[in-house]
Formats: sequence, structure tokens, C-alpha cells
Amino acid sequence: MSFRKFSNQTNAIQLLQRSLEKGRLGHAYLFSGSDLVELENIAATLGKTLNCEAPIRGLTGNTIDCCDQCLTCRKTGSENYPDMHWIRPESKLRIITINQIRQVMSTVNLKPTQGLYKVVVIVAADRLNPQAANAFLKTLEEPPAMSVFILLTLDAPRLLETILSRCLRLNFGGNTGAVLRKEDQAWLADFSSMVAKTKGGMLARYRLVGSLLQHLATLKEETEANLTARSPLEKYDDVDPRLREKWEVELTASIESEYRRRRAELLMSLQWWLRDVWLLTQEKTTEFLSLPHLESHSTTVAQRIDGEGGLQNLRNIERTQRLLATNVQEALALEVGLLKLKL
Ligand SMILES: [Zn+2]
Repeated sequence: MSFRKFSNQTNAIQLLQRSLEKGRLGHAYLFSGSDLVELENIAATLGKTLNCEAPIRGLTGNTIDCCDQCLTCRKTGSENYPDMHWIRPESKLRIITINQIRQVMSTVNLKPTQGLYKVVVIVAADRLNPQAANAFLKTLEEPPAMSVFILLTLDAPRLLETILSRCLRLNFGGNTGAVLRKEDQAWLADFSSMVAKTKGGMLARYRLVGSLLQHLATLKEETEANLTARSPLEKYDDVDPRLREKWEVELTASIESEYRRRRAELLMSLQWWLRDVWLLTQEKTTEFLSLPHLESHSTTVAQRIDGEGGLQNLRNIERTQRLLATNVQEALALEVGLLKLKL
């Protein structure tokens, strides 16, 4: 099939074609949706388009669709094209193993044999087991030249955030990208604006740390208030002291775990934003931003750093998240993490 035949997916396909027309081909795409066969068809069409012998060209002269008739298109369509690889869950467990990833990567690191691009499609990318996901992540961080990875999933939230954040996401129905809480969005808008206006300097950096800690303090207060109001302690005055004690312990534990979850969500929103900044250092494209309303702030910051700095930021936030999951001192971990960001 060619792109023009996917009449039911006009928006996402148009977005993809517009970016091809502008010559902004990504290294990695994540196609999410509700129908895996359809996603496979779209991935096949992108593969055909990249290597087609008689492609349809847009106004800029860049390829935007395939002919669907040449030998390359026909071979790709029947999964016989040597530069297009498909990885699918195998075995009874329906998982994708590290061996499958390694096998394909060893051929991807070679030059294309017939086409212009090596294309790898990972069908049901949410089925990558942890080792396979980590191996693949390394490839995503330093993708071989002239290679394009297309990940397909019906269940994007199950993918590692580190993988999600490095892909250009297109949604063909089903669950979409960054879903942020309203409070976190408002904080992130302030925070990113502060960053954009900041011209370095330690004082400004500490102001950013202060903003994060203050927002976290608010989250903690809200969590405490909400959970305390729902606790049986509030309903029953006259209970056995041992039961009361048990309820108190339970309440403290649930406040702590809920707060940790909210904190992780907040840092994830920061990660989504830093991912946009990194993307802007790479592709100079605004079409795939997760937080388009913060575009001007993201662009300002992206102009001050390079791609490596952008990538370091992502790793840095991931490291901070991991540290916080252990029993490290919160304020210190956040301070160190934030002061290290390249902004
Ligand atoms: Zn063709």
C-alpha cells in the first residue's frame, strides 16, 4: 500500500509526509494505535517510501510516498527486501529477546545492500524484554548512519520511558503521548520560561532548584491532606488503640508512596520537556514536540546547547529518577541533578 491509500489515517499520515517533504527524517519512530496490522502496513509503506525506485516527490523534491509497484516496493511488501528487517515477539512467552535485537543490529551496522536506508521494524515493541530493551536503547542513542527504526505498539505506556523519549511519536488511534497533570503542566510552563530567560549563573540555577522543591512541597501537602481525609482515622473516634496505630502506620505509608508516585510523574514531565529540547537540537523540527505549547522556551534552550548536551540532560534526569527510587536524600539528589543540566 502507498500512503495515499490510508484514507482513514489522514492526519497522522499527513504529518509524517510533511516531515518527509521537509527532509526531516527521524532515526526512530514510534507508531502507536489500536490495530497492529494497520501499524505494520504503515511501517511497510514508510520502508517502501525510503527505498522506492520511483517514489512520489513533494514540492521540495523530497520523497513523500512510494510507487508501490517497483521491485523494491514489491519485495518490501512481501517482507523479502534485504534492507528491511522485522522483529516480532517469539516463543510461547511472546517476547522479543536480546538475541533477536543483536542479530538484526549486526546487519544494520553494515551498509544497506540494495536500498538507501536500512529499516528495522519492531512489531509490538512493548514486548521487548528488559535486556533487549536496554540493548536497543544503546542503538537508539547512537543510531547507525542511514538507518531508521520504526517501533509499533498498541500499549505505549508499557515501553521504557527512555525509549519513548527518544522516538518521534505518531498516533494512529489509541493512546497518545505525554499526558501531564494540570498542576504539573502549569509548573512546567513557569519552569521552562524561567530556564529560557536564564543566562546561566549559580544564583539562577538555585532559583530553578527552589522552584522544583517548592512545587514538590505543595504536592506533598496536597497528598497528605487528600489521603488523611480519606483515612478511617477521620471517621472513627472511638477505636481500639492498636487499630488506631495500625491505621496511622498505613496512612503514613500510603502518603509516602503516593507522594513518590507524584514526584516521579513531575520529573517525567520535566523529562518530556527536555526531550523536546533535545529533539530541537537534532531535527530542527517542531512537528513532533510532546509539549508544543512550550515550543518557544524549548527552542531558546535548544539554541544554547548541542545534541550531546541534550542527550546528557535526558540521562541525567533518568539517573535522578533512579536515585530517588532508592532512599537517597531527596533535596540533595534533586539539587545535584538540576545543577548538572545543560541549559
Ligand atoms: Zn516503488
